[in-house]
Amino acid sequence: MAEHWKGAPVAQALTERLAARADQLKVQGIVPTLAIVRVGERPEDLSYERGALKRCEKVGIRVRQFTLPKESSHEDLLAVIRQINGDREIHGCLLFRPLPPQMDEEAICAALDPAKDVDGITAGSLASVFAGSGAGYPPCTAQACMEILNYYGCDLTGKRAVVVGRSLVVGKPLAMLLLGQNATVTLCHTRTADLAAECRRAEVLIAAAGRANMIGRDHLSPGQLVLDVGINVDEEGNLVGDVDFAAADAIVGAVTPVPGGVGAVTTSVLAAHVLQAAEQAR
Ligand code: NDP
Repeated sequence: MAEHWKGAPVAQALTERLAARADQLKVQGIVPTLAIVRVGERPEDLSYERGALKRCEKVGIRVRQFTLPKESSHEDLLAVIRQINGDREIHGCLLFRPLPPQMDEEAICAALDPAKDVDGITAGSLASVFAGSGAGYPPCTAQACMEILNYYGCDLTGKRAVVVGRSLVVGKPLAMLLLGQNATVTLCHTRTADLAAECRRAEVLIAAAGRANMIGRDHLSPGQLVLDVGINVDEEGNLVGDVDFAAADAIVGAVTPVPGGVGAVTTSVLAAHVLQAAEQAR
């Protein structure tokens, strides 16, 4: 049986350090504050928002929620982003995406003050992830994967890491973070010629495709460390990852569960970014 790499202890370790930092800021009269901007009522956004609220409360971060109806115009949302940019008491902003079609997502992301971009949505933040400069904040999910690998003692140097998925939210920035820790990285996608063979060769396999149970027995090999970023609902209505957990459990060295794996760490990373932004705004 594989080790089950749960997210909770990783999140807890991160959160413990954060509460002390939040207290220190408060002594200086600064209340670290996150703005959460949501357009519409998508269940997955609401669920993530609940998690973020809980996590922020634990750490001592104040949250201000900006909620717009899904029919809102591009200008309505832009006005909210500008308000957040101009508010010195707000240190970070989480914006749920994708946005409705009447909004120009690229322009909205570009409008956010990079100093408040705690989820790596501006081109500047992504550029610094790609340059490995350490400035700006990587997308929280990508960094959550790194936190899990580091917490469980995985030394990535020289390891063959395979990432399935090449989105700007997870796959691409994650590939850069893995590279930054000296892994040899392969990025796979829908046009990859032989996905199963690429996956089998991995020592560290990270699935971020958004396809229920697509990584099965054929994609796995003994000893692998498998991180499952996917959040999907299967035919029976259960929350499942991209990895067939039972298959992985029987074959690999370690695997993160869904739910309770990567997703459990993401809000802690978000909280860490908000604190860093508040510290830098002093
Ligand atoms: P996107 O839909 O933006 O990207 C999916 C990527 O996976 C694409 O690059 C796509 O390839 C690739 N892909 C899809 N199907 C296959 C396939 N059959 N074979 C190979 N590659 C495939 O998704 P996101 O990156 O936004 O999210 C990925 C998953 O992670 C989702 O399940 C999402 O819910 C979850 N997620 C989880 C978070 C967490 O905190 N745990 C946070 C954010 C996302 P191509 O480019 O060729 O189309």
